[in-house]
Amino acid sequence: MNLFVIPGGAFVENTYLLKSDNSNELILIDPGSQINEIEDQIAKIDFEKLIIVNTHAHLDHIYGVQYFKEKYSAPFYIHKLELPIIDVMVDASMRFGLEEFANPKVPKVDKFISDDEVLRLAGLEFSCLLVPGHSPGSLCFYFSKENNNIEQDFVICGDTVFAGSIGRVDLTGGTNMEDLVGNINKKLMILPDDTVLFPGHGPETQVGIEKKSNPFLLGYT
Ligand SMILES: [Zn+2]
Ligand SMILES: [Zn+2]
Repeated sequence: MNLFVIPGGAFVENTYLLKSDNSNELILIDPGSQINEIEDQIAKIDFEKLIIVNTHAHLDHIYGVQYFKEKYSAPFYIHKLELPIIDVMVDASMRFGLEEFANPKVPKVDKFISDDEVLRLAGLEFSCLLVPGHSPGSLCFYFSKENNNIEQDFVICGDTVFAGSIGRVDLTGGTNMEDLVGNINKKLMILPDDTVLFPGHGPETQVGIEKKSNPFLLGYT
C-alpha cells in the first residue's frame, strides 16, 4: 500500500494519494490549492486512472478538484450534503481576498457517496463514515486491516478531528460543538486505539491518544 501526504496551499491543508501496489488506479483525496506539489507527487507514481474522493467541500480541500478532473479525466466523488458548499465556493474564495483564490473552478460531481458506503478503489476497500458537525456531509474514510493488506487500521478524517483539537463548527455548514463531538465519539473513537488518524490539517495521530488527551473530546462521552 502506498500513502502520500502532501501538505500545502494557503491553508496548509493535507492532500492524500493512495493506491495498493498492484492496482492501476490512484485515489486523490482533498486536492487543495497546492496544485504544483500534488502534481509533482502524482508524476512519480505509476497508474492509469485517477479517482478524486473528497472528505468535504470547504475551499481548502476542493480548490484543486476541477484542475485534476480535467487533467486526468478523473471522476469526482463526495457526499450529496456538501452540494450547497460547492455552490458557494466562488463567494467563499472572494471573502478570503487572496489573489490565488480569485477564480476557483466549480467541479461537477460524478458520484454521490451515501452514508457509510463501502468503496473499492485502487485495490483498497474503505468505509465512508458520515461524521457531520464541521460540515453536513463530512466523510471519514476508514481502511481496516481485515479488508486491506496493511499493518494498522487508519482513517483519512478531513476536518472532523485533529491532533489535540477538532474541526471548527462556525464555517459554512457547521452545526455546534456538541453535535460534532458526539459524532466523533460515536463514529471514530469506537475504532481500535492504534487506528491512525490522518487529518485535513497538521500531523497524524491515533484514536487512543485522542481519547486520552484531546481536550475537546473529554467529558462528552
Ligand atoms: Zn473544512
Ligand atoms: Zn480544512
